[in-house]
Amino acid sequence: MITATRTHGFTESVIRGMTRLANRHDAINLAQGFPNFPAPDVLKEAAIEAIKQDVNQYAITWGAKRLRDAISCRYAEWYGMEVDPEEEITVTCGSTEAMASTLLSIVDPGDQVIVFDPFYENYGPDTILCDASPVHIPMGVGEELDAERLADAFSNRTRAIILNTPNNPTGKVFSLEELEAIAALCQQYDAYAVTDEIYEHIVYEGRHIPIATIPGMRDRTITISGASKTFSITGWRVGTIIAPGGVTNAIRKVHDFLTVGAPAPLQEGVAAGLELLGRDYYDSLLADYTVRRDVMCRGLVEAGFQCDAPQGSYYVLADFTALSDLPDDEFSYWLTSEIGVAVVPGSSFYSSPEDGRELVRFAFCKTVDVLEEAVRRLMALRHR
Ligand code: GLN
Repeated sequence: MITATRTHGFTESVIRGMTRLANRHDAINLAQGFPNFPAPDVLKEAAIEAIKQDVNQYAITWGAKRLRDAISCRYAEWYGMEVDPEEEITVTCGSTEAMASTLLSIVDPGDQVIVFDPFYENYGPDTILCDASPVHIPMGVGEELDAERLADAFSNRTRAIILNTPNNPTGKVFSLEELEAIAALCQQYDAYAVTDEIYEHIVYEGRHIPIATIPGMRDRTITISGASKTFSITGWRVGTIIAPGGVTNAIRKVHDFLTVGAPAPLQEGVAAGLELLGRDYYDSLLADYTVRRDVMCRGLVEAGFQCDAPQGSYYVLADFTALSDLPDDEFSYWLTSEIGVAVVPGSSFYSSPEDGRELVRFAFCKTVDVLEEAVRRLMALRHR
């Protein structure tokens, strides 16, 4: 009999649960966001070579030097950010561990953490594990930041704001003006910006701006990203954190005791990818995702869903009220078992589940043939 209460505030991951359901019904899995296409050869070859060379033991706990150097070079090239690979970078087991290690190292029990609603489901349990209280700010699909509302949410109990741009699940890409408004509040209330930028290279409209590049923010921003989405390797579990030296020291301690380090040979593979893949790679990643986005969104509208094309990321939240009266979770189970397409119930992204009852999330990180087959199955909804 388990009596510990630490996890009582949260349920198991709905996203990962939907993958198990999809597998059970042999459905097309557009629920959990993982690609079905191959990773770039340079990464695979470098990882294989590392294993052949017996890179089998722990890397330095905060990341192999080669990988930290490569990350530092790319941030300078992409965003003009000067990042010290010795003092300011931590490599983690995916950005999931990056977020948990970051919050555990900067948030004290009782602190408040601002989270936009809807949000990626891990942020809820992460704040609960820190004994902090989340303060939710609604920002629905297609909405802009309400700076006054955000200002009302900040107080001297605010330790951090979690920002996710491009956003999972809404696809929103925060604009410079919005980031500046958030930055001003972080500075006014002496709060950290913890920013999840894992979809940074999948931006269809606007451009990705790391909030760390806004004047005054470098010293109070923890920038989280990783290789999962950029190189289509969600199972390799290689995440990254860039933070000022003092914060990095704290994060490295938590990271060390949680996981010791990310897989050593796979860090070599990611380092090779960062070193060798240039503009062409990122351009074609985006071009391919743009086609997938268009196939998905057009198909959803044809099948009777209501949705707007996302500005970034590889998700689209769709309203299904024209198709069914079921609540989102039952509709998702039914779609998985009867139609053969798995999705994530919208309610799992909202602090008040009622707000997501009419929505489901589709992940379109699949080859076009798979997306077309999913759309073909969804068309059956129209003809029922
Ligand atoms: N971020 C992806 C999603 O939202 C995958 C999450 C995960 O399972 N780590 O589907």
